[in-house]
Amino acid sequence: MSDLILFWHRRDLRISDNTGLAAARSHSSKVVGVFCLDPNILERDDIAPARVTYMIGCLQALQQRYAEVGSQLLILHANPVQAIPRLAAALKAKAVFWNWDVEPYSQERDRTIIDALKEKGIQFLDQNWDQILHFPDEIRSGANQPYTVYTPFWKNWISKPKANPVETGLIASLQNLTKAEEEIAKENGAIALPTAKDLGFIWDRDLVIAPGEAPALEKLEEFTNSAINEYKEQRNFPAINGTSQLSAALKFGAIGIRTVWIATLETLENSRSEETESNIRTWQQEIAWREFYQHAMYNFPELAEGAFREALKNFPWQNNEEYFQAWCEGKTGYPIVDAAMRQMNELGWMHNRCRMIVASFLTKDLLINPQLGEKYFMQKLIDGDLSANNGGWQWSASSGMDPKPLRIFNPASQAQKFDPEGEYIREWVSELRSMDAEYLVTGKIPPLEREAVGYPQPIVDHNQQQRHFKGLYQQQKENI
Ligand code: FAD
Repeated sequence: MSDLILFWHRRDLRISDNTGLAAARSHSSKVVGVFCLDPNILERDDIAPARVTYMIGCLQALQQRYAEVGSQLLILHANPVQAIPRLAAALKAKAVFWNWDVEPYSQERDRTIIDALKEKGIQFLDQNWDQILHFPDEIRSGANQPYTVYTPFWKNWISKPKANPVETGLIASLQNLTKAEEEIAKENGAIALPTAKDLGFIWDRDLVIAPGEAPALEKLEEFTNSAINEYKEQRNFPAINGTSQLSAALKFGAIGIRTVWIATLETLENSRSEETESNIRTWQQEIAWREFYQHAMYNFPELAEGAFREALKNFPWQNNEEYFQAWCEGKTGYPIVDAAMRQMNELGWMHNRCRMIVASFLTKDLLINPQLGEKYFMQKLIDGDLSANNGGWQWSASSGMDPKPLRIFNPASQAQKFDPEGEYIREWVSELRSMDAEYLVTGKIPPLEREAVGYPQPIVDHNQQQRHFKGLYQQQKENI
């Protein structure tokens, strides 16, 4: 057995502020990183090219960081259940470390790997949580139950002291593999980092956030220096750059959550008015929403399979194929919905207000199963994340953890309120660019004018459809 520790990166693609990596370093100076491109994930049919491209970019940046501190990041492309124990055994590693994850697939995989490592006499030390500020067992109700409502979760969560970013002094110098060990690693699956294209994912547009820790830190600084101060109001307007766009970095751990949190505390400290404080608080609440959904997924893994609320479990969704296609392509004839879907198709990212609008439209207006929308989002989003995406969809479909469950967004009132000049609509629906704002936001574009610019007629009538949905919803409630 050598002194070598393998540190398995998954959703923590950085070396600074990394809980598990710091723990590994405290046991040995010879720490080598490993990332496993898992075919069980990459070969699923809900993987977005933008997300893989971002992830590969983060891995490239991580390889550079490892090289700078004297070690390296090995890349595997195989089922980790076999590949990780095999590599660790071949290199005679004394332990493998990683940061724990909330998703059901990861939980099961990790338990299998711990058993396989044990069989080979390799240790799995410490259960480190890294991507959230509080691990799920820390935030429980008075009756020691997991929360199913956000507000009491938030009150408890914000009252708890939070860890500072992890000390990284020791990580500044690591020992690398010997040449002979490098050969052994190659014989046991280590490969050069492929491109996203090599893996079959083509994304040739710019990403909303450049990969790696440095661009994420820059975005955080830029955001906390300006937009955070007006976040509460501005975050609702999709034509304004009022949010952080850190979601992909947080999903892949290109930035540490403790680093993000301390930045909000410093901004709070420097704030000069109650108004600014309340803006910063609102952003902190979004960070807590992220954790709420992660805790929910950990405590209720059945969320990944379908509706949480009984009333929505056997809902008679109509799943009209043509409607679904029109929604995916941004051709529903509802300008705000179409703008949002086209933004996601083109950018791999969609503004939060619009995610709520299109999710409500798919479920309440088109009566399509939210799971289809959830999957389409995963096929497109750079930040596609099981917990956040599922949480957002369950909230919008009235099937999840929400004390006020029946919400139906009216696309016209949403556009009137949040895109009053139709700027966002004009940006993404080019055929409507020269129309009056009034037409764009109310959606009341005369049929002949729609025809003239090649824009579709509305595929459904919002008022009629929402009445229909409410009727079905009422019936379901009575049936349980
Ligand atoms: P900011 O407004 O700057 O928020 C900061 C961070 O807080 C975000 O980066 C994100 O990590 C977190 N956050 C913010 N809002 C939420 C929220 N409602 N739920 C959970 N976390 C939140 N977010 C994802 O990261 N991945 C998804 O797959 C995803 N799918 C969604 C699907 C639907 C139907 C809805 C309604 C929301 C979804 N969200 C998802 C949440 C939210 O839309 C995005 O996190 C946000 O738009 C990302 O932009 P930002 O980084 O500029 O956010």
